[in-house]
Amino acid sequence: MNLLKDKILTDGHAIGSNILKVDSFLNHQIDVKLLDEIGKVFYERFKEDRITKILTIEASGIALAVITAQYFDNIPVVFAKKTESLNLDKDLYTSEVYSFTKNKSYKIMVSKKYINSTDRILIIDDFLANGKAILGLKEIIDQANATLAGAGIVIEKGFQEGGDIIRDMGIKIESLAIIDSIEDGVVTFKN
Ligand code: 5GP
Repeated sequence: MNLLKDKILTDGHAIGSNILKVDSFLNHQIDVKLLDEIGKVFYERFKEDRITKILTIEASGIALAVITAQYFDNIPVVFAKKTESLNLDKDLYTSEVYSFTKNKSYKIMVSKKYINSTDRILIIDDFLANGKAILGLKEIIDQANATLAGAGIVIEKGFQEGGDIIRDMGIKIESLAIIDSIEDGVVTFKN
């Protein structure tokens, strides 16, 4: 997606050779027009997949999931919660996700009310790196006996292993920009 790649080149910032900071348009301040274009493209890529629900993880995934859901036929968004609270249901699907950007694992939780065995689920997330977030969400989908129909990723870092792991499992992934390398602050995309 050229609009997204141009935005990454103009407004993204590399942190070392592993991390891309996109706080000015995706992760902190949000460029709503760009997000809307991203939502349209995700819809185009998954419109034949009979999606019944979009699943993501709080917080960065929520805006992306919501803007994408508008293009489907009235499907809900469910986001996995990272923190326990008194008003969270006790009947939960849970799994563990290791975050290499934070260098720690965290628990993700989804109420059993909101995913069931008839669901065909589209996962939406901002980044794909080592694949742990997608695998954690897949575990929740599996616990619910629902179907993982695919994953829509805004930025895949192709030099990390997640893309290969998820594709080798036969899961459909659509990444809107795939980064080949980050060297001396310069981001290079795959084709
Ligand atoms: P994975 O679970 O695939 O290893 O990593 C994906 C998750 O880590 C994403 O949900 C995202 O929040 C975070 N992440 C991974 N790499 C980056 C990065 O380069 N920049 C930012 N901002 N977040 C990242």
